[in-house]
Amino acid sequence: MSADYVVPAPPQAAIAVAGSSKLFPVRRIWCVGRNYVEHIREMGQDERLPPFYFAKFPDQVVGDGGTVPYPSLTKDLHQEVELVVCLKSGGRNIPVEKANDCIFGYAVGIDLTRRDLQIASRKLERPWEIGKNFDHSAPCGPIKPASEIGHPKEARITLSCNGKVRQDGNINQMIWNVPEIIADLSKMVELTAGDIIMTGTPAGVAALSPGDKLECSVEGVGSLTVTIGQPLK
Ligand code: MN
Repeated sequence: MSADYVVPAPPQAAIAVAGSSKLFPVRRIWCVGRNYVEHIREMGQDERLPPFYFAKFPDQVVGDGGTVPYPSLTKDLHQEVELVVCLKSGGRNIPVEKANDCIFGYAVGIDLTRRDLQIASRKLERPWEIGKNFDHSAPCGPIKPASEIGHPKEARITLSCNGKVRQDGNINQMIWNVPEIIADLSKMVELTAGDIIMTGTPAGVAALSPGDKLECSVEGVGSLTVTIGQPLK
């Protein structure tokens, strides 16, 4: 029986599954802050602190080949290429050694950031939403199922802007690996199917302009191409 909503129910956010017409429905987007030492150093932060989490709304996903309108309010939009982990199940207090059992697959994503607004809110000890959680802020490429590629522990992760490499790291440089992140996050909230986790970015974040073409890849996982468009009127 379908519910009798008083306004139209929002559409289900979803990400394509590679080599298939099927879709992965997105419930929540979690992001890990400061999970690669070289990025912590470029941001001038304390690399001894454990990572922490912030969230983006599911409808901010942009698919492969999409265009991201240059967002409002910022003069310093940055790209952060990240390995994205997509869950098929979850739970609370998931043990590290059971965490991989929750993973449907992996994708390449970009944690787009209004860096000037993020830093301003950080200085005021305010939440990060204005800097991180804005429309079109979570581009994500097609998901490769773990049933096909297993659970990558080492893979080159790169981002090029207009053909020039900006970020070139390896997912083995993560301070907290994927099972540790899932286990830790499941202490904070119950994880379920449809949750995705952006696992942090390597060094090389930099400013974007309208017209920029971003090409990202994680070796063995896939790729993502996104164009930065003109601001919306
Ligand atoms: Mn990030």
